[in-house]
Amino acid sequence: MWHRRFLVASALAIFAAGSISATETLVSNQEEFRDAVARAGPGDVIVLANGVWRDFEILFAGNGEPERPITLTAETKGQVVISGQSNLRLAGSHLVVSGLVFRDGYTPTSTVISFRRTKGEPANYSRVTETVIDRFNNPERHEIDFWVLMFGRHNRFDHNHVEGKGNLGVTMAVRLDGEENQRNHHHIDHNYFGPRPILGSNGGETLRIGTSHYSMTDSLTVVENNVFDRCDGELEIISNKSGGNVFRGNLFLESRGTLTMRHGNNAVIEDNVFLGNGVPNTGGIRVINKGHVVRNNYLHGLTGYRFGAAFTVMNGVPDSPLNRYHQVEDVLMENNSIIQCDYIEMAGGSDEERSATPIDSVFRSNLVFNRDGNNVIRVHDDIGGIAFEGNAANAVDDLPVKSGFSNAPIEMRQADNGLWYPVGADLASIGVRADLKVLDVDATGVAWYPKPGSSQATPPTIRVTPGEDALFDAAKRAEAGSILELAPGDYRVRKTIVIDRPLTIRAGQGRGTVRLEFERPALFELDDGGRLELSGLEISGAASPDMSGNSVIRTSRYSMTSNYGLVVDDCLVSDLDVNYLFNFFLVAKNTFADEIRITRSEFSDITGSVIALSRETDDLGRYNGEEISVVDSRFSNIGGAVFDIYRGGTDESTFGPRLELRSSVLDSVGHNARNKTAASIRLLGVQLADIHDNDFIDSRPIRVTHTVGDPITRIANNRFTGTPEPIVGEIGAP
Ligand code: CA
Repeated sequence: MWHRRFLVASALAIFAAGSISATETLVSNQEEFRDAVARAGPGDVIVLANGVWRDFEILFAGNGEPERPITLTAETKGQVVISGQSNLRLAGSHLVVSGLVFRDGYTPTSTVISFRRTKGEPANYSRVTETVIDRFNNPERHEIDFWVLMFGRHNRFDHNHVEGKGNLGVTMAVRLDGEENQRNHHHIDHNYFGPRPILGSNGGETLRIGTSHYSMTDSLTVVENNVFDRCDGELEIISNKSGGNVFRGNLFLESRGTLTMRHGNNAVIEDNVFLGNGVPNTGGIRVINKGHVVRNNYLHGLTGYRFGAAFTVMNGVPDSPLNRYHQVEDVLMENNSIIQCDYIEMAGGSDEERSATPIDSVFRSNLVFNRDGNNVIRVHDDIGGIAFEGNAANAVDDLPVKSGFSNAPIEMRQADNGLWYPVGADLASIGVRADLKVLDVDATGVAWYPKPGSSQATPPTIRVTPGEDALFDAAKRAEAGSILELAPGDYRVRKTIVIDRPLTIRAGQGRGTVRLEFERPALFELDDGGRLELSGLEISGAASPDMSGNSVIRTSRYSMTSNYGLVVDDCLVSDLDVNYLFNFFLVAKNTFADEIRITRSEFSDITGSVIALSRETDDLGRYNGEEISVVDSRFSNIGGAVFDIYRGGTDESTFGPRLELRSSVLDSVGHNARNKTAASIRLLGVQLADIHDNDFIDSRPIRVTHTVGDPITRIANNRFTGTPEPIVGEIGAP
């Protein structure tokens, strides 16, 4: 019935357009689809029947006409799922694709949606709209692919929902290689770019336009009214690498990275809103190259620094090759509001190589407001080439820019659009305009596919009492987010418990009431989708097999594309010594922790290490975990290192790893002859390390090696008894 109505409606639309020959064809298998495509002409509509289409490499080639495109759509938008080894290529002109969902699979080629058949056969004047790509990830984390590649000219990608790319490679890119793809005038608008987890490597951009090779060529792409929600893949949310692009009216929500003018000139960046809400490494706009206009952007609550700051104006490299940093020149930055942000970096990245300071640029009528009056502007080199005019700061004591700022106390008021403005007629022309509109998230993506975080039910609590396989069975059945509350007693676990959902396991009556032993080489294994919180448990390795490489918790031994989290609170871990190499937590290569947090816990008699995130040893700038913290905990008689964290290479595209260790005791740590780190804590390439107020007793030293960036290492107020002083050095130093 519904379908008939659909047909009638379409027929009417076609009739209204004056067509006499257009047809609509419902297809229900791949052969019917291929036949329909071969026959399709201007105005025709090919409808994929509802259901799951597995292993479907869609080639949609043909030529429609202006106002009479060839359309490929779904019987019901959202109910046509393309899964398995699948992808879509468009080639020809005046093609429209809508209503598809790519889920539960990945592309066997390098692209999920490509606006070309092959080199030299692009699509022009074509459109992909109301389409979903959700976690369509190659299972190998570091196997590269792209979800959307735009080729050709005059194409549009709009109202799509793109979420959860977990493997290597830009989510979406505009390509300029080949004359037929240049000066392309593409439109990318009203898309919902949903959460992209931290990749822990370069190649995690959400949108890239161009490449360094074609960066002196114009793309003329317009990117407007898109949402970038928690796009955390890497330093660059958007990497602009071509000329003449426009970024307008976009909303960046809690995204860890920046809109980066990486290569290419003459971009317009205006009317964008960046809301960081204090989330670590949230950033704004990074300016490189020449001829840009950066106007009327609102940046609020962004915490990032250095290349990830709220606002960065970079230094360039004199006579820079295409792939390095061109000097900032002739850039207009005006009427931006930078409110409650932590850092503005001027002449950022200044070093021996990047010595060309910004020139012929203007920073005008911008508002820099921090309630506490702290200075957030850092000047790294000569900024005489930037004219500062008519800006306002809020009574900052030591403002490093001496002229071009008023600096009296500013009163702020929130307007009806949700944004904050300075009060007073004399400040009315400073910062963003009163009519700046914050993009409505519901105006992006599609209404029929839920945006993440929109509905959160209260997690159920499941009570577990001791008994054969009681914990294993409960964990297996528990739905995502559940809390398993363990009644007092001893639990002997016969099988490794796989955690592929968020789960909390806690002692219902607190520490000292629940004891866990396990008979396999691991008690818990974190797999894709997993997050584990342990609370109040006593865990012993005494019943484990005499096997090298045991651990209480391990990641999947295979590649993971979802990031996991691990939280251990108020636990006692002991007797990991039935074998000479028994670790608390063991990770595999190609896995990544968003967070590992240990609080109020005690670890004793462990032959191996506690947290070893050291499996990415290729020195490609990759690493195994972002944020690691240990607070109020005690480690005694640990053979390996408490932490072994490794991030090798000189790439600058990521933020982590970050580490905090405080108010803890390390007693007899690191003395196992098999401890290759020769340390109690070994950090290589860690970007932020804060080690303070700890006691080190009879332990191997802390060893810190700096590799790249401006790493911050703070080792303060620790007591070292029978323990050598920390050894901190640069890589390559003797
Ligand atoms: Ca990058």
